[in-house]
Amino acid sequence: MNYFRPAIATIQGYIPGEQPKPGTPIIKLNTNENPYPPSPQALEVLRSLDSEWLRRYPDPYSRDFCKAISEALDVPADWIIVSNGSDDLLNILIRACAEGKERKVVYPTPSYVLYRTLASLQAAEVVEVAYPQDYQLPIVELAAAGGAVTLIATPNSPSGHIVSLKDLRQLASRVSGILAIDEAYVDFADYSALSLAQEFENVIILRTLSKGYSLAGLRLGFGIANPQLLSNLFKVKDSYNVDALAILIGAAAMKDQAYKNNCVEKVKRSRSKLAIDLRQIGFEVQDSQGNFLLVTPPNQQAAKIYQSLKEKNILVRYFQLPGLSDKLRITVGTDEQNHQLLQAINLSA
Ligand SMILES: *Cc1c(COP(=O)(O)O)cnc(C)c1O
Repeated sequence: MNYFRPAIATIQGYIPGEQPKPGTPIIKLNTNENPYPPSPQALEVLRSLDSEWLRRYPDPYSRDFCKAISEALDVPADWIIVSNGSDDLLNILIRACAEGKERKVVYPTPSYVLYRTLASLQAAEVVEVAYPQDYQLPIVELAAAGGAVTLIATPNSPSGHIVSLKDLRQLASRVSGILAIDEAYVDFADYSALSLAQEFENVIILRTLSKGYSLAGLRLGFGIANPQLLSNLFKVKDSYNVDALAILIGAAAMKDQAYKNNCVEKVKRSRSKLAIDLRQIGFEVQDSQGNFLLVTPPNQQAAKIYQSLKEKNILVRYFQLPGLSDKLRITVGTDEQNHQLLQAINLSA
């Protein structure tokens, strides 16, 4: 019996990084969480919560959170859509745009593995265009693929490279469909493509509070695009896709830009230091504008080091994928965590 649609029955499903319970003695450098706690203002909201917020349904448009975003980023509130993590918004976008052979999902690789999963669930044709060695955006090939939606993560994961605004502009003007710019790691980067949402009617910028704001467990993301584009995404999203707690805590975190910026500066300093230290022990390290480093250990040792670190309770990410099987993606931790990582690598060598 075929209980399920062929698209569902035949795909593997996304495999998230391991998520051990908080409190277990593990150094967790595998899913790009921020090593610092969320803003004290956000935690205060949680402590002083009036239970009415839980008894009632949440605001379907997360307006308190939109207002905080609007003030922090200087974008009009009606240019914002809020989602249950940016994964939810990626899903909404792909469900809204993609289907079958005609309405394709296009993106460069290597990039966020979830793009393929979401497109496959939609039974949409996927076109993957490989990045060249130097990670220059393959604009011509991407545009020629004719996506109903073209997805660019910048800074990209797992490579950590950032795409220039010039290249993004070129791509935005050449694609016939929507260009979704996934800025999950923008807080750790030198610049943002936010202005392109105003320049191009087909551009949407995706953001998350999971990385820069240390709120991965809360599940909160948002998109910025013109109200016309957003109006169609609102039709697709669950009515109450974001819970009342997330709206309140997210608004408080967004208002506390100073705290977030301070954590981000610490991570960026640790990123530079970790890159230097890893190069010193013979690792190849790709320059990164995210809160992680894609590294190639010497002598094809990636899988072995991953396993040996895991036995020492240090989790990093190993992707058994073409072009990545000799590499590890290491989230930047605190200086103390990074020090322990380096010691463990030295022991396992
Ligand atoms: C982490 C990540 C996301 C998802 O973030 P959530 O808001 O936690 O769903 C989206 N895109 C990329 C490239 C990411 O690395």
